[in-house]
Amino acid sequence: MESLDNLVNALKKFPAIGPKSARRIAFYLLKQEDSELERLGSLISGLKKDVVTCSHCGNISSKDPCNICSDPLRDRNILCIVDDLESLSAFEQSGIYNGLYHVLGGNFAGEITDESADFLSRHIRELNPDEVIIASSPRIEGDMSYYTLIDVLRGLGVENVTRLAYGLPLGGSIEFADRMTLHTALEGRRRV
Ligand SMILES: [Zn+2]
Repeated sequence: MESLDNLVNALKKFPAIGPKSARRIAFYLLKQEDSELERLGSLISGLKKDVVTCSHCGNISSKDPCNICSDPLRDRNILCIVDDLESLSAFEQSGIYNGLYHVLGGNFAGEITDESADFLSRHIRELNPDEVIIASSPRIEGDMSYYTLIDVLRGLGVENVTRLAYGLPLGGSIEFADRMTLHTALEGRRRV
């Protein structure tokens, strides 16, 4: 059955979905009503229509500036630099942080591109925050991305730079940290 095989192959590309899970999902879908499949299809096809990337922080939202940057109740004196949208989402879900974010984005494997450094610099000049928290996931000991980031921040004259206390396993992702671990990591952040 070609349509089923094609669907399984498409589902296998999803994060955390292996061949077995892909098959299970495909068979689950096969049992659903046509109307439900149409609804799911339109949710997927419409997903990006309503989503814009915030030109200030790199978060996604239905508007620019995003709902976090434009929220008057957020503390604009603290900026938390995260690797990706998943990490931002983990912080937001945990409800432990009320400052602003900056999403470095892309495949942040030990290198910060000129483009992402410029984007960050613009955001920091615009905000002039009292504290910048580096919350990138620890990948390797002596992470180059971390030192590049420090250089960029020092170059901008940011004096109060902190880093999360880990807590978090090396190579582990903030995305999967539980609320308690994130909270401890944030509370125990140290000036660098
Ligand atoms: Zn934003």
